Amino acid sequence: FCVLGIETSCDDTAAAVVRSDGTILAEHVVRQDEIHAAHGGVVPGLARDAHRAAIDRVIEWVLRRAFHVGESDDPMAVAAPHLAAVATTMGPGLEICLRVGFHAARQTVERLRALQPASSSRLPLFLSMHHLEAHCLVARRIPPHEPPFPFLVLLASGGHCMLLLARDLGQYSILGGTLDDSIGEAYDKTARLLGLEWGGGGGPALERLAREGNPHAFSFSVPLRQRRDCNFSFAGLKTAVRLAIEKCRRRAADIDEAQPLVQLNRQAAADIAASFQYVAVKHLEERLSLALQWCQAHEPNVRSVVVAGGVAANATVRERLRAVARQAGWTRRCPQPDGSMRDEESVLFPPPRLCTDNGVMVAWAGVERVRRCGDIVGEPDMEDIEVAARWPMGARVDMSGENGA
Ligand code: ATP
Ligand code: FE
Repeated sequence: FCVLGIETSCDDTAAAVVRSDGTILAEHVVRQDEIHAAHGGVVPGLARDAHRAAIDRVIEWVLRRAFHVGESDDPMAVAAPHLAAVATTMGPGLEICLRVGFHAARQTVERLRALQPASSSRLPLFLSMHHLEAHCLVARRIPPHEPPFPFLVLLASGGHCMLLLARDLGQYSILGGTLDDSIGEAYDKTARLLGLEWGGGGGPALERLAREGNPHAFSFSVPLRQRRDCNFSFAGLKTAVRLAIEKCRRRAADIDEAQPLVQLNRQAAADIAASFQYVAVKHLEERLSLALQWCQAHEPNVRSVVVAGGVAANATVRERLRAVARQAGWTRRCPQPDGSMRDEESVLFPPPRLCTDNGVMVAWAGVERVRRCGDIVGEPDMEDIEVAARWPMGARVDMSGENGA
C-alpha cells in the first residue's frame, strides 16, 4: 500500500507518496524563503497565503509522479486504488498554516473515497500526524538499519531542542527540553546578525561560512555546564555572540572612522560563525552524552540513537555526535546483506534533505501507523477534529538526582 503525506506546519508546503516498504514514489517541497527573507523570520499570514497558493499543485504533482498519471488523466482517479491513507501534520505548528494542509487532506480523502468502487471494502484513511513524531520516525524508513523501539532521540529543529525516549509509536517520554531558544533559532539569529543569506533558515549559510573560520577564535562558554541534566539553553550563547559581533564592528569602525557602520570583514564573520557552532554543538554533545549514560543505567533496552530535525542536516553536527556515540561504545548488532551479523555504530541521521520539513516524513509516519494497526487507525470522523498549535509529545521523565546532580 501507499500513503500520501502532507506538511504545512511552518513555511514549507510539502507532500510525498511513500510505499509501505519505505520507497519514496514522489516528493515535492515548495519553500517560502524569498517571502520571509525580508522580514527576518516567518510571517504567519504570508505563510498561510503561500501554502494556499501552492498546496493543490504540490499534491497533484506528487500523485502524477508517483502513479505515472498521463497528461489527460485525473490523478485522483489513478491514485485512488493505491492509497491506503492520507496523513497530514495536525500539529504542533502555526495554526493557520496547519489548517491549510488539514483542509487539503480532508478534501483529498473525500475525493478519493468518492472515486472508490462501491464494492471496495477499503476506504482511504485520514491520519492526524504529529510533526515531531514524523521528524523522529523518518530515521526508521530504510531497513535493515531502522532503529527498533525503544530508542533515544535528539531532536534539534527550528522550534525545539529535546532529548526523547521513543518507547513505541505514539509513546514518547521527554528527558529534557530547552529552557529558552531552540538550537535552530540560535543558528537563525546568529546568521541574521552576521547578515547571511536566508535559505532553509539561516543554518545552511552559517554552516558554510563556519568552514572558513577558526572555531577557537572566540571562546563562548558552553551553556548549563553546572547542571548535569538533559535540558538545553541557547539564549546566553546568542547574547554572547551578539556582543562579540558588536565589539568587532566597533573595532572595525575605529580603524576606518569614515565608515562607522562598517560590516565585519569576512574572516571575522567566519570566526564568529565557527566559534558559535563549536559551542552550540559542544552543548549538544554534552547533553547527548548525559542521556546515553542515563539510558545505560535506566533503560538498558535502548540501543540506538536518532538525531532528527533541521539542524541534524549539518555535517559538523553529524560528525561530532557520531563521535560521542562511538566513544560511549554505542553500537548494536545489525544484519548484513550476506546474512551475517555485525556490530554497527548505532547513531542514525535521516538523509539531510529529510531532516528539514518534508512530506516524506509525514507519509512514512502514516505508513508506520497503518502497518501497525491496519484499518483502525484513521480518524473516525473528519468533521470533529481540529489542528493543534501545541501538542505535547509526552510526559517528562524525572531525572532529578541523576548523574550526580
Ligand atoms: P519544528 O520542527 O521544531 O516545529 P521547524 O519545522 O521550523 O521547527 P525544521 O524544519 O526541523 O524546523 O528545521 C529548520 C531549522 O533547521 C532552521 O532553524 C534552520 O536554520 C535549521 N537548519 C537547517 N539546515 C541546517 C544546517 N545545515 N545547519 C544548521 N541548522 C540548519
Ligand atoms: Fe520541523
